[in-house]
Amino acid sequence: MEKDLTGMTFEQLESLVVTLGGKRYLAKYLFSFIHGKNAHIIEEITPLPKAFREKLVQQGYNIGRLQPVDQLIDPDGTIKFVFALHDHHHIEAVLLTDENRRKTLCISCQAGCRMGCTFCATGKLKFARNLTAGEIVDQVNQAVIACGKVNNVVYMGMGEPFDNYEATIDSIHILNHPDGFNIGQRHITVSTCGMPDSIRRFAGENLQVRLAVSLHAPSDDLRKTLMPVAGRDSIDQILTVVEEYQEQTGRRITFEYCMIKGFNDADHHARSLARKLKVIHASVNLIEYNSHSGCHYQSSSRNRIHRFLDVLQEAGIETMIRYKRGAGIKAACGQLGATQLEKH
Ligand code: SF4
Repeated sequence: MEKDLTGMTFEQLESLVVTLGGKRYLAKYLFSFIHGKNAHIIEEITPLPKAFREKLVQQGYNIGRLQPVDQLIDPDGTIKFVFALHDHHHIEAVLLTDENRRKTLCISCQAGCRMGCTFCATGKLKFARNLTAGEIVDQVNQAVIACGKVNNVVYMGMGEPFDNYEATIDSIHILNHPDGFNIGQRHITVSTCGMPDSIRRFAGENLQVRLAVSLHAPSDDLRKTLMPVAGRDSIDQILTVVEEYQEQTGRRITFEYCMIKGFNDADHHARSLARKLKVIHASVNLIEYNSHSGCHYQSSSRNRIHRFLDVLQEAGIETMIRYKRGAGIKAACGQLGATQLEKH
């Protein structure tokens, strides 16, 4: 896949063009035809000299595209895209449209996931492989072709972005570039299950993207039952690195907290979470959990979620609720891959 032009950043394309004896500015044509004009083959990029196009083809370069397999629409307007990779693994992306008609695409960065979170259908799938940067960005391309401009991108689909670090960073640069999709960095969110070393590394990238950390429990013991990764990195270690990240970048963090009935949703959990977070400049997203056949957890009631929100807000923690969307097509949080899981 190293000859896939779709996964190359603008700078990588520029050096490729120069290496092949072309003028540097030709990279602009390559980039804009791949990211925005949906070129499928190099021959379609007609502003490039014919001889240069032929050279690229002769040297084995190509434009990698995902194969759309399915597009499901929930009555609430949420759209789930299922794509096949060239080696037949399937990945999913979800498009959410808000009341102002702004579109957010939730994208995948791995086929399956190594993290094994017990509440998540993807975590129960066998890990297949990392996606290339091209496979990550082409999810945006395909959504744009199907539904028009995408305003926000969140790395909250299948996989852990920091477990596929380089491709994630390259894909952010590609999505952000003005000659392509031009998605502002502040409109991109990377969500991690909390990998301290990677958060530290991410702080040094000089990016303006938003960082979200999945906490889902206020204590390590409870968290370990949901997220095996919690056995390696404690909440205190994560909070320490988050503070460092904030000092270095000045950026705010969001903590994700999935509301699971009778498990992590009591008032004392909220009070304990508030105590942990009060020293950090952060907000909390309470996520209405979505059950699926792969696990026994159930969603907290909406009353319980509101009560949890009240406790956090009374403690001075900025908190929002993310209600489930797309549950009817298994597109809601924690459900990606659930259809593949049922087939196994
Ligand atoms: S919640 Fe995220 S990190 Fe955990 S298994 Fe699912 S995709 Fe992986």
